[in-house]
Amino acid sequence: MKHTPHTIYKKLYKKFGDLHWWPMDKEYHVRNSSDPRFEIIIGAILTQNTAWSNVEKALTNLKSKNMLDIEKIVKINISSLQDMIRPSGFFNQKADRVKNMAIHLQENYDGSLDTFFNRDLHSIRDELLALNGIGPETADSILLYAGNLPIFVVDAYTKRICKRLPLNTDISYEKIQQFFQENLCKKFTQKEITKVYNELHAQIVILAKNYCKKKPACSNCLLKDNCEKNLS
Ligand code: SF4
Repeated sequence: MKHTPHTIYKKLYKKFGDLHWWPMDKEYHVRNSSDPRFEIIIGAILTQNTAWSNVEKALTNLKSKNMLDIEKIVKINISSLQDMIRPSGFFNQKADRVKNMAIHLQENYDGSLDTFFNRDLHSIRDELLALNGIGPETADSILLYAGNLPIFVVDAYTKRICKRLPLNTDISYEKIQQFFQENLCKKFTQKEITKVYNELHAQIVILAKNYCKKKPACSNCLLKDNCEKNLS
């Protein structure tokens, strides 16, 4: 039987269980009474074009100075911010993006992420996409993982797996997203769907990093049955 987003989700969930994304230091936020959603927003920007291990180093620097705070990022001198996030690469650009985001949240929502996220998903998405350097993948990661809003994140791994199975060979971000959402919305309730999008994106990242790599390691891949590219 041909794979669908639903069958992939079921298969991978059985193997991986709850993956508890977004990867984040929850204890830090308990200790510092800070908002973990802002760490997710910063992480979604810093992860552009780099490995997550580099983002973790930048986040550790920010945490060591207690900087995971909207107001503090608004006030910080840009060169200090650049220094802290240097390990994530493209640090000049990313410092501007992180600062712009904090200024946007502070000036328009008084720094309240509750106010920011408690609106229509598409209005928030359009607003995020209008900010410099925020593309669909970053915007949707923020909406799904920080805002807990029902939108599926498409990344290069999703496109790779879609092409290899094949599932959907379209190259457009929006068309792939629509394909996943239409299929999954038929199988899950409105109440369930955000968690499904959350888990499925995390599952795809793990599958692509461990099995469906650039050079695929198909012999132990959970999707190898009915995969046209299967090399095992
Ligand atoms: S069988 Fe191979 S090509 Fe197909 S999804 Fe798995 S790792 Fe990728």
